[in-house]
Amino acid sequence: MTRSEHIRELLEEYAQQRARNDEDLQARTEEAFAKAPRIARLREESAELALEAMRSILTQQSVEQRAALAKNLKRQGQGINAEIRELLMKAGLPENQLEMRYRCNKCKDTGYVGEAPSRFCDCFETRLKLRQYEDGSMAGTDEQNFETFDVNRIPKENGQLEQMVSTKTMCEQYADAFPDTGFRNILLTGAGGLGKTFLLNGIFERVTARGYSAVRITAFRMFEAMRQQHVGNDGEFDGFSSLIEAPLLLIDDLGTEPMMRNITVEYLFTLLNERMAAKRHTVVATNLTPIQIKEHYGERVASRLLDKSNCRAILLKGKDLRSL
Ligand SMILES: [Zn+2]
Repeated sequence: MTRSEHIRELLEEYAQQRARNDEDLQARTEEAFAKAPRIARLREESAELALEAMRSILTQQSVEQRAALAKNLKRQGQGINAEIRELLMKAGLPENQLEMRYRCNKCKDTGYVGEAPSRFCDCFETRLKLRQYEDGSMAGTDEQNFETFDVNRIPKENGQLEQMVSTKTMCEQYADAFPDTGFRNILLTGAGGLGKTFLLNGIFERVTARGYSAVRITAFRMFEAMRQQHVGNDGEFDGFSSLIEAPLLLIDDLGTEPMMRNITVEYLFTLLNERMAAKRHTVVATNLTPIQIKEHYGERVASRLLDKSNCRAILLKGKDLRSL
């Protein structure tokens, strides 16, 4: 079975799990209504309140008005919820009787985490790996983390191996120390095939394995999130803000994204600037040289990407590992 077949089957399994969750919640809700009928009425009120609030929010133009409405709704909703909780308690039912219960709270049994640049949840990756091990199709998948880093592949000539080992050590120490790293950002530059993506993935795997939240994204997908934000699709889809807010953001292949007027440079600047102001960590891999970065994105973006006080910049040199 191929990886994509496993993924398809597993996504189907997750859909069944969600259906079971729904049924389970339905049964618990009925139980609560039977034991405390007033809860049913309160829930109707709560639903009406939400609808009413949504309608009025749609007619409000200013951010302040919307915020005030949202606040008001929240307060009323909290009142209703408090009453429901009390009724549940009196009926001898648990506080979360009317809440959906998930096998995995992180992805709510969808298998995905993150907004626009979503990725598989750890629970999904684990199940996927298990399935692949079980049918023996795991052989040959090259997982990229520091443990699978094979130095034997790297040429010893011209200091390539030496440089890679020291860079790998630096990245590994960074990932182990995160968020208390000596420098906040890393910029990996150099031609294609020198292991930049490998290092980036290594940092991501290690930091997430340590329980921290990180977002790894290609510049192309990042551009998609920017474009969506620009055309106002951010309501249901806050990809760009999740890039700004990620405690650690790893951008691969910067420079391969489309250059779109009023989008690429402006949004990249906003992203880097906001992250810098909030003292968040960013790792960037790019084939562009520092000079090309300046030419490509202009002085403002370059000064943030190349900021010496916060950033460790590495220029990798040597032979393309993919051609060896
Ligand atoms: Zn999950």
